[in-house]
Amino acid sequence: MNLTDPILVLGAGESGVGSALLAKSLGARAFVSDAGEGKGPGVAELKAAGIAHEIGGHQPDGWQDTTVVIKSPGIPDNAPVVQTCRNQGREVISEIEYASRVHKALGHTTPVVAVTGANGKTTTTSMIDHMLRHEGWDTDCVGNIGTSWARRLSERVARNEGAAEATVIEVSSFQLDGTRTFRPNVGVLLNITPDHLDRYGYEMANYAASKWRITASQTETDHLIYNADCEWTQRMLDQRGTSAQLLPVSAERTLDEVMRDGHGGGLDPQDNSQFILQHFNSFSMTIQKLAVQGKHNLFNSMAASMSGRVLDLRKEGIRESLQSFEGVEHRLEFVQEVNGITFINDSKATNVNSVWYALECANAPVIWIAGGIDKGNDYSTLLPLVRDKVKHLICMGKNNAKLHAAFDDLVESSWDVSSAEEAVAKAYELGMPGETALLSPACASFDLFGSYEQRGRAFKAAVRQL
Ligand code: ADP
Repeated sequence: MNLTDPILVLGAGESGVGSALLAKSLGARAFVSDAGEGKGPGVAELKAAGIAHEIGGHQPDGWQDTTVVIKSPGIPDNAPVVQTCRNQGREVISEIEYASRVHKALGHTTPVVAVTGANGKTTTTSMIDHMLRHEGWDTDCVGNIGTSWARRLSERVARNEGAAEATVIEVSSFQLDGTRTFRPNVGVLLNITPDHLDRYGYEMANYAASKWRITASQTETDHLIYNADCEWTQRMLDQRGTSAQLLPVSAERTLDEVMRDGHGGGLDPQDNSQFILQHFNSFSMTIQKLAVQGKHNLFNSMAASMSGRVLDLRKEGIRESLQSFEGVEHRLEFVQEVNGITFINDSKATNVNSVWYALECANAPVIWIAGGIDKGNDYSTLLPLVRDKVKHLICMGKNNAKLHAAFDDLVESSWDVSSAEEAVAKAYELGMPGETALLSPACASFDLFGSYEQRGRAFKAAVRQL
């Protein structure tokens, strides 16, 4: 496609509006179609920018001869409007694909680092960005984390700025689904564990294939940093392979056990209080010095450091930045200690695997606050941890039957609540000094809250009122 080709955008959220703004900044025609009521900030922004749009439904008959369609990640691939576009012979891509085509067409050659996985994306993306900025790089940190890549590029084009020194992108599976030529110089695949299966026909293989798109267009000059302990990643590597240079990383095993062709990361075989990365030369760091703790964060920190090494950052710079990284809100965030009870906000834990890590690193006994909208959860992996660590279960959702069925036999008591205030009051009533009250829901928030952020903030506000 050419930079000035007209585009049709489905969905007026962050990625849709970003794409339309990018097209406009390039002098291309954009038309945005959104089936919603247009109450969000997106439509107001389109109006302000003078970008043509329709709301309240899609009217394909009125669309002009546009060959490229940019589909927002929230619209499933099997939605009728997407089928219509395909039947009309239009190419349907994601905003990430569009932005990457523009990035290339503008002649930007600076590195692109893309982070994906079921869990840890925002944390690791933020760590890598923090590391690069610590070393003085002018970066764009974009994607699923907040600002779309397209919007950021549109700002650069409008201001006549050149490329960022590096672009760090958090990419979700929905964004990867619509990629064809997207080719990150450094791909980071953190893990492939069940999530969003409702969008993937309840087939892990479909979800894994979507994640594997991170490396589909990579070449031998690119790098793929991946989790050496992830079963589905290994399966994809065996079945589909990749042309990228492989950098396996493990937070469970020693370096010699996971290294491939002399490259990789693992625990120090001589001293397991350290991790080591081997990539041309070796880099080591004391685990205790990492600012964010827990086994999952050890892995995230190792993957981030490996990206830093690939980009040739100073070793001491990497260590310093990992010591000063403050973590991200709603991810195992310490809220406050009240009467000896430690309250932790892990509202972002919207699937089973992230709760596994939260429980694994929580100090027992735990009063566990869970619940919300179940995305097809299989709780079996949590049973041993819940048996060992959880004393009371507080179910905060409209329908808690599945949680009760899975865990009631393993805990001293279980309760139903329907607000964050009630959950916190119950945890406070049940808790003893030295215990941990952990909000780590394993579910989406939309039954009682507008978003996981709102759920986390309501929880923190209630704790502060105690
Ligand atoms: P994402 O952006 O992929 O949703 P976040 O960094 O926002 O990931 O973290 C989401 C949840 O997953 C949090 O509860 C966090 O503690 C947990 N988590 C973070 N990193 C990992 C990891 N590597 N493996 C499993 N869980 C993780």
